[in-house]
Amino acid sequence: MSFRTLLLMVLLVPAAVLGGAQVLGVVIPVPHWGRGYVVEVPLDDAVAEPLILPKVAGPDDPSRPLVVIDAGHGGRDPGAIGVDADGRKFAEKDITLAIALALRDELLKIGGIRVALTREDDRILPLPHRPEIARQLEADLFISIHADSAGERSDVSGASIYTLSEKASSEAAARFAARENDADRLNGLTIEGQSAAVSAILVELSQQRTQEDALEFSGLVLREGDKRLAFHPQPRRAAALAVLRAPDVPSVLFESGFVTNLTDRARLTTREGRAQYAAVLARAIQVYFARRSSAAEGGE
Ligand code: ZN
Repeated sequence: MSFRTLLLMVLLVPAAVLGGAQVLGVVIPVPHWGRGYVVEVPLDDAVAEPLILPKVAGPDDPSRPLVVIDAGHGGRDPGAIGVDADGRKFAEKDITLAIALALRDELLKIGGIRVALTREDDRILPLPHRPEIARQLEADLFISIHADSAGERSDVSGASIYTLSEKASSEAAARFAARENDADRLNGLTIEGQSAAVSAILVELSQQRTQEDALEFSGLVLREGDKRLAFHPQPRRAAALAVLRAPDVPSVLFESGFVTNLTDRARLTTREGRAQYAAVLARAIQVYFARRSSAAEGGE
């Protein structure tokens, strides 16, 4: 086979089969390449995967508040990696899942709050599916759990909590308003049939309220975690994170600590450490929802 034919095959054949491969998110061996080359399907291209809604645990009562917990990364995407002195590796995807499961169990023990996890095992989950699961379940709160890496800087430590930056928030609102298919459910406001300008304003208002709620929740995490968890010196952050872009579900990303730091890693990878995270986050969630239900009873 000439090099030219080979080149064409390499360019065209995988392109033809990739359509199907993106749906499955699999690794495809390329035939005739001769050296066992594989085509890796990038994670972000897996968006064509069907969205599967997880089951909701807790009280069988839709009037109870629902929190969606998102364990960051998973499957072929390990996230940050920490290595201890014995060469043992700790992957962020395992840490986030373990904390998410501990938090779910803690919330179910407390009772009164419904809980769903975006993933309950070591699987790949396209980034856009994560907030979308929260939206479709009509969740009241979305928490994405992560762990950080500081590379060679083993002295950097502490948890932090992210909300969507204001600029990203209004950009997301504008984009969201433009997608009319999605514009039918925003904090109970029906904006179907409204003019584009009016629905853009309604989305903006909804997003502002969502942002205020997310900021309030992040404040509660810091308050409940004071002296029980170690926070970074600047624990409150804002960033343009795709996972926080649901315009109608208050969303935060909790960076639980650094896998590259000895003390943080001890807390992140032990049962006792995870129990601390679960207790603090569960308490913050409980207070957050309690405030909302008393405001509702007060005839807001
Ligand atoms: Zn992460």
